[in-house]
Amino acid sequence: MYFDARKLSENVRYLKRLCAVRGVTLATVVKAGCGWDALVRAVLEGGCDMLADSRLENLAGLPDAGPQVPRMLLRLPAPSEAEAVVRLSEISLNSEYAALAALNAAAQRLGRRHRVLLMVEMGDRREGVAPAALPSLVERIRRLPALEVAGIGTNLGCLGGIRTTADKLTELVGLAARLEAQLGRPLQYVSGGNSGALPLLLEGRLPAGINHLRVGFAMLLGRDPYTDAPLPGLHTDVFSLEAELIEVGTKQSLPHGEIVLDAFGQVPSFEDRGEQLRGILGLGRLDTDCATLRPEDGRVGLIGASSDHLVVDLTATAEYQVGDRLRFAPGYGALVQAMLSPYVEKRSVTRMPLSARSPSRVSPALR
Ligand SMILES: *Cc1c(COP(=O)(O)O)cnc(C)c1O
Repeated sequence: MYFDARKLSENVRYLKRLCAVRGVTLATVVKAGCGWDALVRAVLEGGCDMLADSRLENLAGLPDAGPQVPRMLLRLPAPSEAEAVVRLSEISLNSEYAALAALNAAAQRLGRRHRVLLMVEMGDRREGVAPAALPSLVERIRRLPALEVAGIGTNLGCLGGIRTTADKLTELVGLAARLEAQLGRPLQYVSGGNSGALPLLLEGRLPAGINHLRVGFAMLLGRDPYTDAPLPGLHTDVFSLEAELIEVGTKQSLPHGEIVLDAFGQVPSFEDRGEQLRGILGLGRLDTDCATLRPEDGRVGLIGASSDHLVVDLTATAEYQVGDRLRFAPGYGALVQAMLSPYVEKRSVTRMPLSARSPSRVSPALR
């Protein structure tokens, strides 16, 4: 997999400017990089306000970005992790009193203060307290001296697939105002969500009062998470996955024989398209999420994948032979899986000679 650090830095710089104009703090979410140093450095180079990750293991390995770029833990901390959370992040997302009490105790032990963002559940049905339960949770947290309620936030579009709308965010701003009245001071952050909030920002419809966003998907892939369409101003080719053809030949599109479960326990189904020119790539489900790959050559179609083989339709192009390499733009699932796979070599290409950056081929010297 090729990674263009310069393009990622430019995406961050663009998003940062977009956010700054609206008074929004940008937390760049680097969890899909699985702790890869080159990726985090490119994000820092772009100039974010905060670095966010869902895993303590990743936070532990972050390059030191200095006090101007606080580290944010996205996944709710388990009480047993409290000490590591306080050591490895300056601010964490929370919804459970037991975890907050553990964070407070850990922060006291370590002689630190820890900031928390309280998550409110607004319809996606993943993490967060119900809006009605927020005041009583806050009352209890006020008695935890090492914690500071830095703000509130919500997360949509992840489990329930619920869209981030101006209405939902306006409701969040209302909750923030009530919380400020309860605390008798302003909140630092009202965190309006993930990449799903960017379309609102781009259209100038982000409700006033939302002053923090946590953005991963759109920064890495340059796409609108709801439509997969490119977002204006962002690179969509920060990452590219390449694999070599190990077989090319004509095959019938329909399998022949008695159909049983495939290698992953599914009953496969195929459309009869007669004969097809097919290629097999040395890439499979152990390497990436093949379903979310987008071939760079639009004439190439995806047929299916097993553990170690990706079968593509080359009927519309006769130009590929065994040994040729095909490139794909990974979707989010493909990116994460490829980052995790020990079989996929990750290469930073920014400082490669120009000749090696041509869109579909890599010069032999660099293979
Ligand atoms: C992953 C995550 C994000 C970032 O979401 P993207 O869709 O990648 O922008 C934001 N907030 C939380 C709580 C997350 O877990």
